Amino acid sequence: MLVYKFGGTSVGSVINMNHVKNIINTNGKKIVVLSAMSGTTNALVEISGLIEAKETKQAEKQINQLHKTYNKTIYDLIQDQSLIQEVSGYVNSIFKSVLGCVNQPHTTLLHNTIVANGELLSTFMFSRLLQQEGLKAALLPALDFMRIDRTNEPDNFYIKQNLERLINNTDEADIYITQGFICLDAEGQITNLQRGGSDYTATIIGAAIEAEEVQIWTDIDGFHNNDPRYVNDTQALSHLSYDEAAELAYFGAKILHPQTVMPVRTLDIPLRLKNTMSPNAHGTLITNQIHGEGIKAIAAKDGITAIKIKSVRMLLAHGFLKKVFEVFEKYETSIDMITTSEIAVSLTIDDITHLEALTEELEKFATVEVDDYMSIVCLVGNHIIYHPDTPQLFQVLQDVNVRMIAYGGSNNNISLLVNTSDRLETLQKLQRYVFEGEAVGV
Ligand code: ASP
Ligand code: MG
Repeated sequence: MLVYKFGGTSVGSVINMNHVKNIINTNGKKIVVLSAMSGTTNALVEISGLIEAKETKQAEKQINQLHKTYNKTIYDLIQDQSLIQEVSGYVNSIFKSVLGCVNQPHTTLLHNTIVANGELLSTFMFSRLLQQEGLKAALLPALDFMRIDRTNEPDNFYIKQNLERLINNTDEADIYITQGFICLDAEGQITNLQRGGSDYTATIIGAAIEAEEVQIWTDIDGFHNNDPRYVNDTQALSHLSYDEAAELAYFGAKILHPQTVMPVRTLDIPLRLKNTMSPNAHGTLITNQIHGEGIKAIAAKDGITAIKIKSVRMLLAHGFLKKVFEVFEKYETSIDMITTSEIAVSLTIDDITHLEALTEELEKFATVEVDDYMSIVCLVGNHIIYHPDTPQLFQVLQDVNVRMIAYGGSNNNISLLVNTSDRLETLQKLQRYVFEGEAVGV
């Protein structure tokens, strides 16, 4: 079986939903994972924020506005009268339940319940569109099989068993549609796989059913060699290895949720990124195969905080790093980049929830300096650290204020820490010298 996932833009309009219908209307059984229509999750997050701030009137107003846009979509999408009735009934019940949240105490569960509605709406509407067009489609409710454990990892055994059971108990179909993003936690409460998590849903399902391939359909022709938001003339990459894709996704390439590669990598299931608006474009195929050499792609991740921890004893006494790591472990804060000198260790984090507590604890045995508004620029390519062109990088970047470099941690990645205000210039310079062949120093 194949697993397809379509993102918010792909299901964000009636025209695009019809593109999706054509893409999946092929022979063979498949599971289709959908995101919420673009803009819906953001709108629901905002509504949840208004409820938390007790801005009841404004929350109600925004719920009713969103409801109206869905009512319009139903009529643009569905012509069959009885299906219109059915979809309207469903959409009304969803918005009634969201209105019912307005005067409730705001909890994480309430928030998660509100934001889960985006995927419930898109999948219901899309399943009825397929029925109207005579396709054999069935809905598999994600909350009946998708679950994470106490460590927030997918509960693979549970998922596999329940998904198989559900497929066996559902009327025979060619296309099984399910919600991305949403799942249950270990207590059976509604939660999610974090923003952008529908990609991750697709590969978790792909692994559970040992799919032949997982395809992630978005609005761009796959991974690009640089960030198209900041750099002109970027090129789509036709092949990446799992490692390269994982590093790019983690370090800022917005196209893929950072954890997406993991479930399929262990089972060696190909992961293909495709463009819904241009289905004939090759896209990016991610496998365990290695293609090309040298620097293949560059990505940037903003919102990074750097922490410099200096041992008060002036030398990195035995056990110092252990103490440092224990503090980060205690606050469940993961470290992205790290470099050390004889007297200090510098590292970066992207989650500052516990920054104050972290700093306080570190200050018990070290002096601590914190810098925010930093960005990581990550260069990826198979064995780039050995490539003869790589040393040229340092010439290219001689005028950029590079704050930290991680070189050699992996053979396939070099990470640079720069001020976010220098990120644009860094990406553009790298683009010119690395991909456009401009000579250094001209
Ligand atoms: N709808 C969710 C979000 O906007 C999940 C996804 O689109 O992947 O983050
Ligand atoms: Mg996405």
